[in-house]
Amino acid sequence: MARDSFIFYRSFAEAIDDLPDKEQLELYRAIKEYALNGQEIELTGLGKTFWKLIKPQLTANNKRYENGKKGAEYGKLGGRPTNNPNGDIKENPKKTPNKNVNVNVNENADADVNGQPAEPAADSFYIQKIAKSLGFNITPRQALPFIEKLDQSWLTGENNFLVFAAEKIKFSGKPPKDYERLFVRAYSQDFYLNEYPTWLLQKIKQDEEKAKEVKQEKARKNHPTKCEFCGSEELQEYSGSYQCKKCFAISSFNKDKIKWEWRE
Ligand SMILES: [Zn+2]
Repeated sequence: MARDSFIFYRSFAEAIDDLPDKEQLELYRAIKEYALNGQEIELTGLGKTFWKLIKPQLTANNKRYENGKKGAEYGKLGGRPTNNPNGDIKENPKKTPNKNVNVNVNENADADVNGQPAEPAADSFYIQKIAKSLGFNITPRQALPFIEKLDQSWLTGENNFLVFAAEKIKFSGKPPKDYERLFVRAYSQDFYLNEYPTWLLQKIKQDEEKAKEVKQEKARKNHPTKCEFCGSEELQEYSGSYQCKKCFAISSFNKDKIKWEWRE
């Protein structure tokens, strides 16, 4: 896959801007290489974390680009190609089709070559289930484009794209009767696609902050019971610190290092 151009989102820049120069350069290279040539560069550390946020969007756009190209080719040939040139049509499969199959499903296809309604994959039911838990009743067919258009990594985890879309819609100021209509089209709205990585980044930062606070609280409760200098177990607490009654050394909690520190 080689492309002549790609979309660079503001959210990419916002994610990258705060990083050290070295990581910035690595990420810019990774974006360029993946978007133009489909080649993934191995990243480490922070770069790797941010790449996880950026890559799905590039993947989604590359998919859209490829689909658009296919559409143009089929157009030249005068219509959709036969999916099954050998006429080897399978019975309605009872088993869940491989999810990769979904990627190849034409977005406008309402029926397969057999004239049967295309069977939605189990993943559509998974999307349907998430949507329902968010208060949106959508059909498996309405769920299908989310799988086709978005990277799998956007659809899993507690901060997945559907959670984001639901939150945005409920705070959009639009009348509630429009919610369902907005939700089923969320996968195709550039505004949502553009903003999701930034939102996810904020969620990750918030979660990290929360985890740090929990860790701090736990470490703070585990206060010293013995003086580091003289070994005395007679400590006096005052305003969150502990002082040795014998040698007067003081132990205070260091929030940044998340540990108790003694000083004489
Ligand atoms: Zn002491």
